[in-house]
Amino acid sequence: MKRQKIRRALLLISFLLFPVTIWYFSPYLIIQAASEHIMNGSFIVFCTMFLASIFLGRAWCGYLCPAGGLQECAAMANDRPAKQGWRNNIKYVIWVIWIAAIVITFVLGKNDVTIDFLYMTDHGISVTEIYNYIIYYGVILLLVAPALIHGKRAACHYICWMAPFMVIGSKIGQILHLPQLHMQADRSKCISCKKCSKACPMGLAVDEMVTKNMNGKCSECIQCGACADVCPKGVIRYSFKNMTADKK
Ligand code: SF4
Ligand code: SF4
Repeated sequence: MKRQKIRRALLLISFLLFPVTIWYFSPYLIIQAASEHIMNGSFIVFCTMFLASIFLGRAWCGYLCPAGGLQECAAMANDRPAKQGWRNNIKYVIWVIWIAAIVITFVLGKNDVTIDFLYMTDHGISVTEIYNYIIYYGVILLLVAPALIHGKRAACHYICWMAPFMVIGSKIGQILHLPQLHMQADRSKCISCKKCSKACPMGLAVDEMVTKNMNGKCSECIQCGACADVCPKGVIRYSFKNMTADKK
């Protein structure tokens, strides 16, 4: 439980820092920078997320994402699990169109390629002018509305433009049989109490995943460890191994 307190505190701090950091997660600034052949802050952050996810899965979402922090606060108002299914694919459609826009803009862009991590920030700070607050609160509304309407972390499930980087990175790690952070379960010890499903901030049916021996491979799992921390039988635990070797 101490781990979950620390995790939630990290998410809250990350959310409180969002006015400073929001441009580093911007899906728009990366396109604007591409037109000038600049590798900006969000480009570097997204590349780092992708590379880290090969070994760490979606731990970023579970421990550090400001949008995750916002949505876990929203769960105080609506803690129903968000429906899974076709809606989960919306984020991949958004991602493909967006990546195509970045590539096309870069190809049509001008100038030599340069790196500017602080691109369009004021001394590294994102929101510094009044009109920036319109964008900031627009993004907040975009992220919090799905969670308030549909339930736990619905924006992560349905529209997050960052999640596909980590899902793809995780899959690459699995295909290459690299050691990767994931949840491992011993289903023989499970008593089907469903405490894990209730505790899951992503609203996943964790008990069913345990029964089917699927929990390590779920692309919606953010490796938060809440299921492991609440399980009375110690069924679920963290593992940092090649997933195939770890399979029971
Ligand atoms: S909390 Fe543990 S024992 Fe209960 S359903 Fe989940 S995995 Fe099984
Ligand atoms: S399955 Fe467990 S580790 Fe994965 S998101 Fe749910 S609670 Fe977190």
